[in-house]
Amino acid sequence: MQHTLPSTISYSGTTLHRGLHTTVHVHPAPAHTGRIFVRTDLPGSPEVPARFEYVQPTALSTALVAHGVEVQTPEHLLSALYALGIDNCRIEIDGPEVPILDGSAVGYVSKAHFGGNLTEQSAQRPYYKIASAITVYDRDSWVSAIPSTEPGLRLSYAIDFPHPLIGKQWHSFVCTPETFAQEIAPARTFTLQAYVDAMRAKGLIQGGSLACALVLGDEGWLEPPTWENEPVRHKLLDLVGDLSLSGLVLEGHIVAYKAGHTLHGQLAEKLYSEYEKHHGLSASNPV
Ligand SMILES: [Zn+2]
Repeated sequence: MQHTLPSTISYSGTTLHRGLHTTVHVHPAPAHTGRIFVRTDLPGSPEVPARFEYVQPTALSTALVAHGVEVQTPEHLLSALYALGIDNCRIEIDGPEVPILDGSAVGYVSKAHFGGNLTEQSAQRPYYKIASAITVYDRDSWVSAIPSTEPGLRLSYAIDFPHPLIGKQWHSFVCTPETFAQEIAPARTFTLQAYVDAMRAKGLIQGGSLACALVLGDEGWLEPPTWENEPVRHKLLDLVGDLSLSGLVLEGHIVAYKAGHTLHGQLAEKLYSEYEKHHGLSASNPV
């Protein structure tokens, strides 16, 4: 069955790109709402659904744009909501960007978990068990969805980063609220000091600081990572958030190699097409 939160949760913080201070209220919402952003700072409080149809391609982070109204960096919040099983919510935000917090999803998971006691709703979840292999790729980067006999959704990720302190990393987990909270949610965004300096020079990532990312300088990590493979765990955090844009509850195995937000989003769209084919969806029977 579909679920929503039992009560409203709220967060405030600095945003990564513009360095603004924004507040987010995640409210319960009726069945079939999905996860939907509402820009309360704009006239008429326009809505921006967290779905692949509204994704604006960007290499750095995910942006959602509906009718010219934008919500930037929603992926860590969406990742937590998906992993915790929150199908329906109205996410009010008083600016164009979701706060980055510490660059992980810990802050979201701790507030939205409710000890697993979510509110059950009288509607079936839009469930899709991966029936045939699908791959999206760009040169040597790819993401595949593979059928599996294992229950639930397994996600596996490999990266090969041209820096000896990151290098080749791998992590694989079956996504449940508990495994996500323990293995994935605490993994922070990672970046290179040289890259941060270049972006700042262009007037970007105005809200970025050591408190919201693992930063790799010439001498090594500026702050030690929690796990040696924290970077690839963060890639899994991003992958879950981007797959949530399919609007589906997935079962099977997703494997990614050196991918990013663009490929993750392309797979979310293809999975939704497969789901439509299998369920013969029409306007009278939407997700
Ligand atoms: Zn991320």
